[in-house]
Amino acid sequence: MTPNPILFAALLVPALLFFCYSLWRRLSLVRLGQPENRFDNIGVRIHEMLLYAFGQKRVVAKPFGINHFVIFWSFMVLLIANGAFILEGLIPGFSLEALPKPLYQSLMLLFDLVSAATIIAITLSFGRRLIFKPDYLDSRYVKARSFEGFFILSCIALLMLAYFGLHGALLAVMGQSHGYMPVSSFVATLLKNSPLADQLFPFATWSWWLHAGVLIAFICFLPVSKHMHIITAIPNCFLRNLEPIAIPPKEQFAPGNSYGVGKIDDFTWKDLFDSFSCTECGRCQAACPANATGKSLNPRQVVHSLKANLMAVAQEIRNGKTPTTPLIDGEGEGSNTEETIWSCTTCGACLEQCPVFIEQMPKIIKMRRYLVEMQASFPEELLNLFENMEGRSNPWGIAPTERGKWAATMNVTPFEQGKTEYLFYVGCAGSFDSRQKQVTVAIATLLDAAGISWGILGKDEQCCGDSLRRLGNEYAFDKMAQENVRLFQERGVKKIITQCPHCFSTLKNDYRQYGIELEVIHHGQLLDQLMSEGKLKTTNQGEALGRIIFHDSCYLGRHNNIYDQPRNALAQATGKQPLEFARNRNQGFCCGGGGGRMWLEEHTGSRININRVEEALAKNPDTVCVACPYCLTMFEDGLKDKQSSQTKVKDLAEIIAETVRG
Ligand code: SF4
Ligand code: SF4
Repeated sequence: MTPNPILFAALLVPALLFFCYSLWRRLSLVRLGQPENRFDNIGVRIHEMLLYAFGQKRVVAKPFGINHFVIFWSFMVLLIANGAFILEGLIPGFSLEALPKPLYQSLMLLFDLVSAATIIAITLSFGRRLIFKPDYLDSRYVKARSFEGFFILSCIALLMLAYFGLHGALLAVMGQSHGYMPVSSFVATLLKNSPLADQLFPFATWSWWLHAGVLIAFICFLPVSKHMHIITAIPNCFLRNLEPIAIPPKEQFAPGNSYGVGKIDDFTWKDLFDSFSCTECGRCQAACPANATGKSLNPRQVVHSLKANLMAVAQEIRNGKTPTTPLIDGEGEGSNTEETIWSCTTCGACLEQCPVFIEQMPKIIKMRRYLVEMQASFPEELLNLFENMEGRSNPWGIAPTERGKWAATMNVTPFEQGKTEYLFYVGCAGSFDSRQKQVTVAIATLLDAAGISWGILGKDEQCCGDSLRRLGNEYAFDKMAQENVRLFQERGVKKIITQCPHCFSTLKNDYRQYGIELEVIHHGQLLDQLMSEGKLKTTNQGEALGRIIFHDSCYLGRHNNIYDQPRNALAQATGKQPLEFARNRNQGFCCGGGGGRMWLEEHTGSRININRVEEALAKNPDTVCVACPYCLTMFEDGLKDKQSSQTKVKDLAEIIAETVRG
């Protein structure tokens, strides 16, 4: 059926031109970004795209994601139906009926069923926005109940209704009913028995034009709205970060260079592409501990601010002018406050949740780098930390000679290439913090009990630089990392045991940027292995520890995918699986100490560690088991605050040491 090909072409062609122009206008802005290679490992990238974009793996991880899955795949199938509709509208006589009969009938059956499924899914989406809208769908600038959202939903619903109106009316006119068009045939029966029965042909024509009109409106609106993600989300999955942890690259320190990101074109093209790929689903916002405790940081808003800033200042940048909308510290939609930038704990919850692999956290770190390196603008509390780190390579500024003092009561040998297998990298907290030193002793005792050959660097050990890097003090980190790498190379260090997940991740992942591949093992992994091999034997099951709950450290779990080994170690030691937090494993909630937040007060909202402690207490545990020095401090502080003296916090190594002791 082709009501008027010339009129249709006169409407469609400008719409398509507008579509291409708008899309180009936005996507060409991405070229303002800095270079970055996201085209390596093509095979892996294609696999990831198939799994996450077409398979919607992360989307369906949330119950309502199934609805999006239906809409996504309906969209894909209906691309064929709409392609055919356009060709039929432009070329008189063109019809899919020319296809071999089985193929034609299969296609029509698919279109019918998919269109019906879409109507159901769209109705549910309307219901979700109007009736049972979760909090996280709204943020300062992005609203679930926005014109955009309702307009797109209405367009899709109208397209489907017009589809059935057209096909139902045509079947009714021809007096036909087809098994391969069950829904359209049903609509035909309804129409035949309705007051429209003697207006079937005009009704089919109206439906045709309704379908054409909505399709044209949709084509025009798509590239100028958030629904542009329909086009960008699939390539964004292809372009995802393939590294185990999302770390911005090293800075090249040289006179005249600028560091970090202070304006939009300092970001890479991929960062800018991210901003057009955000579906505004709000999952990152819902998972963010800073957001959950009332800070101004909202990862979705950070991504949104990039898009708004880019669109506002692109022409100024092209004209070589200073952007009038600042990326940092301005008012309104395209800016981020410094408070926002300093609130991130780098827990990676946003990275884990995002269905289209937008990298929110690395963008925040890049802006921190700019604030620290270019503006010397950072929270006052950090001044001391930076000075201590640069002067004495530890957060407290304690003399390096004190590093090995924890070993005073033990027979600990220095690491020596050829004589000792592992370097036990104790870390700053393990060396200087009086509570964490007990954990260090527990680990050392267990290593000896299992017959492991290990040694330490003593006063030569330096901080790994984790906090410096996450806080954006890249210059100090760079110096520290280079010195550490040189030391490891000189001493022939290849295998390292760490007790801190932050040291673990930094030595294992960040130092690869410095050309060293170290075999790093966290004590949670090693203890699991030693117990499985029978090298550590338990003599009791730690009954005194009572009910134990296990807290995932973000830098062990989410950033390095180590979830099972610490739990297995606990289960082997105590004879039972630990209790789980309501938010556990990759859905876990940060203790609040990562990203350098350990050294900063929380001035806004409630405290992250209290939020987590309350979650623990809801399970009524006797012992909270941690595997990270920051988590240990955060939980101890939180429990003190809650006056919960009956609940203890212990490191995994301390628990295992108790079960191994005779
Ligand atoms: S890394 Fe964590 S704290 Fe930072 S923005 Fe993401 S979810 Fe929020
Ligand atoms: S950044 Fe990702 S998780 Fe956050 S709103 Fe956008 S698409 Fe959703």
